[in-house]
Amino acid sequence: MKKVAFYTLGCKLNYSETSTIGRIFQERGFEKVEFTDTPDIYVINTCSVTDNADKKCRKIVKEAQKYSPNAFITIVGCYAQLKPKEISEIPGVDAVLGAAEKFQLVDILETFEKKEQPQVYASAISEANTFHNSYSFGDRTRTFLKVQDGCDYSCTFCTIPLARGNSRSDSIANVVRSANEIAESGVKEIVLTGVNTGDFGLQDGERVETFYGLVQELDKVEGIDRFRISSIEPNLLKDEIIEFVSQSNRFMPHFHVPLQSGSNKILKLMRRRYLRELYADRVATIKSLMPHCCIGVDVIVGFPGETEEDFLETYNFINGLDVSYLHVFPYSERENTMAPDMPGKVSIKDRNRRADMLRILSEKKKRFFYEQNICREFTVLFEDDVKDGVMEGWTENYVRVAAKYDPVLVNETKHVRLTGINEQGLMEAEETYIEVLKH
Ligand code: SF4
Repeated sequence: MKKVAFYTLGCKLNYSETSTIGRIFQERGFEKVEFTDTPDIYVINTCSVTDNADKKCRKIVKEAQKYSPNAFITIVGCYAQLKPKEISEIPGVDAVLGAAEKFQLVDILETFEKKEQPQVYASAISEANTFHNSYSFGDRTRTFLKVQDGCDYSCTFCTIPLARGNSRSDSIANVVRSANEIAESGVKEIVLTGVNTGDFGLQDGERVETFYGLVQELDKVEGIDRFRISSIEPNLLKDEIIEFVSQSNRFMPHFHVPLQSGSNKILKLMRRRYLRELYADRVATIKSLMPHCCIGVDVIVGFPGETEEDFLETYNFINGLDVSYLHVFPYSERENTMAPDMPGKVSIKDRNRRADMLRILSEKKKRFFYEQNICREFTVLFEDDVKDGVMEGWTENYVRVAAKYDPVLVNETKHVRLTGINEQGLMEAEETYIEVLKH
């Protein structure tokens, strides 16, 4: 039996796809092993969004060669789709597969015998037009379930449509089937994942279903305690979805909504499909229905043309928004996108300084959000991760709670009252026996 090991770079989508490729190998009689366990085959799933994708890929290949010098090394993922030739030239790489080929990996490479030249199978991205159902099985508590892939938007900084192709989705019936399978395995929480998740419903270029329809059907799946939506564009986060989540016991009061900039000038240059007023309105609607809902925000700073005034506009806009945490990204040029050719390049120093300012703001927002939850009662789903005798879990509204390790608590939900924030910035809690109502 041949042994295969995996390494994943990048986002939740990549994790769900690596898991699925892993299951395909297992179904074909391969044994899935750890990276260090001298596998016969390595599959490295790459990302194009991370900085230095090239360097990271080289480093993992080197590591792989160290642990198993004769292993067959295969590279898949977004970076493999964007730069197949470049990757095939990395010493030690045996095969590169693009977006349309990665799920056929076992069929295409069959014997996994090394050839004199690396094998490259990467069709044009237009060929990546089928949807492959994927979900991760990393831990017992939470699964990332891919419901949508690709993106039809054309944000001027983003390379994802080039790496993942057009927007396409699974059917509601299939997603519900996967959710039932996941429930049978004992996992309690599903995170709905996609490139542009809210755009769910396109099949062969036609809108046949909607994200709202998906949410309604998943809400009926017995056995899954919690659903979260990984990230949703503000223009696609419709009132009906927010209202439904506010009434649901399974969809958690937690949204992650990319903003990218609080300046309308920059939003237009980015070709985002909303203005800051719409974003503020989404936040207000969420908070009016779910006052303790957690809202996460993605922001890019230092986009070409962003003056200090534009940045301060973003800073002040976010400062005034009732949001809970930020993911901050200094702008970074991507090949084959429009933004690098735009005037008004911002120095790396200024990009980093602006990012630091927003990261400090994020800490303040998070602290304030946590403080607002002290003395309130929630349900915590505890995870498997234990550090120094402490285990952690999440409330419905994404407050991270620390507790003394108790193996009985792993993958279990407990009713608690939040008591205060500890030195590590985690919430502490005491157990309650009162049934927690929806927040
Ligand atoms: S919505 Fe914009 S940023 Fe998001 S994947 Fe599509 S093109 Fe990229």
